[in-house]
Amino acid sequence: MKAEDIRPSHLRPYDPKYDPLVAANPGHGTGYAPTYWVGTAGRPPDDDGPVSGDMDVDVAIVGSGFTGLATALFLAREHGIRAVVLDANQTAWGCTSRNGGQGQNASGRLYRSQWIARWGKDVALKLDAEIREGFQTFKDLVAEFPECEPQPGGHLYIAHREKKLDFLRNETQIMREVFGYDARMLSPEELRRDYVNDADSHGAMHEPDGIGVHPLKLAFGYLRKARELGVKVHPASPVLGVETRNGVHHLRTPGGTVRARAVGFATGGYTSNALHGSLRSKIMPILSNSLVTRPLTEQELEATGFKTTQVITDTRTLRFYYRRLPDNRVQIGSRSAVTGADAPNPIHMAKLVDGLHRKFPALEGITIDYSWWGWVDVSHDMMPRVFQPDPAQSIFYAVGYGGNGVSFSAHAGRRMAERIAGRQSKTFELPIYNSELEYPNVFNMVRSPAFAPFRRLGQRFLYHWYYMRDEKL
Ligand SMILES: Cc1cc2nc3c(=O)[nH]c(=O)nc-3n(C[C@H](O)[C@H](O)[C@H](O)COP(=O)(O)OP(=O)(O)OC[C@H]3O[C@@H](n4cnc5c(N)ncnc54)[C@H](O)[C@@H]3O)c2cc1C
Repeated sequence: MKAEDIRPSHLRPYDPKYDPLVAANPGHGTGYAPTYWVGTAGRPPDDDGPVSGDMDVDVAIVGSGFTGLATALFLAREHGIRAVVLDANQTAWGCTSRNGGQGQNASGRLYRSQWIARWGKDVALKLDAEIREGFQTFKDLVAEFPECEPQPGGHLYIAHREKKLDFLRNETQIMREVFGYDARMLSPEELRRDYVNDADSHGAMHEPDGIGVHPLKLAFGYLRKARELGVKVHPASPVLGVETRNGVHHLRTPGGTVRARAVGFATGGYTSNALHGSLRSKIMPILSNSLVTRPLTEQELEATGFKTTQVITDTRTLRFYYRRLPDNRVQIGSRSAVTGADAPNPIHMAKLVDGLHRKFPALEGITIDYSWWGWVDVSHDMMPRVFQPDPAQSIFYAVGYGGNGVSFSAHAGRRMAERIAGRQSKTFELPIYNSELEYPNVFNMVRSPAFAPFRRLGQRFLYHWYYMRDEKL
């Protein structure tokens, strides 16, 4: 179906208050969030239109973000299996069209020192080999779709307070000595001279791996390639329920039932509790805000010292992530509201603007051309899972990137494709592949679906605590 046939006249309006813990599904043919990426990606490529009538398929993938599209792409390319991808709204409607476009050599929210503390050095080394391979998978796709405007060169991890320097020094040493990366510490002077004049910085760790991308152009590349290889992509087709009968999974959509031999869930932070038992209350959806300024003038570029276009994060727990885009705008993002109902409250965007001004006083009052938010999928242990929860059922999921899924989703899709195709591998013994999602906990104490409604109370408390620890203590 031609893209214009379902948009814009047939689209339902974007709902800024959408909340995955409240809504039964993420919408039905809903318009994109008003992101810079949507505003600049051009016309979406053609797709296969909403599901219209019942169908029998080998593999159905639910969710057409990076993960769902990469799974379908690798299923077709590496296993000769042509999947059907279903999305409630439009291609890449979820986080994939809302993120900061920072591709890092990472997965989940834990640092390499935390991998060692959690699993020991041996497992940490194996996990590193896997994440490194995953970053290569991402790099290969970025090279295949150069229209995604790659900004390579590495990642700057900025100490937002002097007391964070020891942590960064330790991380740099571990990156170098245990994992063999050419990471290095930058003094405040080097940072200012060669990279950026962030007024909120006290030095940085530089990692050689890191690529910024235009995420929606990249996702559209995945979409085009997957369809060329025979994948069908159906937008405006929310899966309203899944029933398994005699080994066949019946996925109910408004336009018809899709009967599939295997199912891959790639629904990220937009996973509703009603979708499937294996995912019910397992993902903690967390809101993140993002904005893009108008292009900086020559004087503003000079004043901000924005020499680099590399991807940047800082050491706050409620961290800022930012970079200079190819057209000299600044994109910056950070935490947002706790609930969907509160997301449009201007106080949250004002905090982000305040963060931008603190880092770059010269940008005080600059016009913000785009602002938006999205739901990040956080797992119980801050690490993703690509897993088959019941070995007797051909149902799989790849979720839980914790705000670090731009790059790793490519490899997660590749691994989910292998699992769906029935491949066995020693790699699947790694912790992100050999254990299922658990219920996120409340104050590190209670893991139970019964306590799921109270997690947001815990989140509010933690936000206050993190703010105090990040800024005051
Ligand atoms: C503001 C923001 C900034 C971020 N910045 C970064 C960053 O700079 N770097 C980074 O690495 N990561 C970042 N992330 C995270 C990153 O965007 C995600 O990890 C990644 O896009 C996940 O892709 P996905 O395909 O798994 O999920 P998504 O892109 O969220 O796709 C899920 C899809 O599932 C569909 N869906 C859900 N339920 C159903 C159903 N029942 N039926 C049919 N379809 C359904 C949704 O419509 C949606 O399109 C950010 C996220 C946000 C919100």
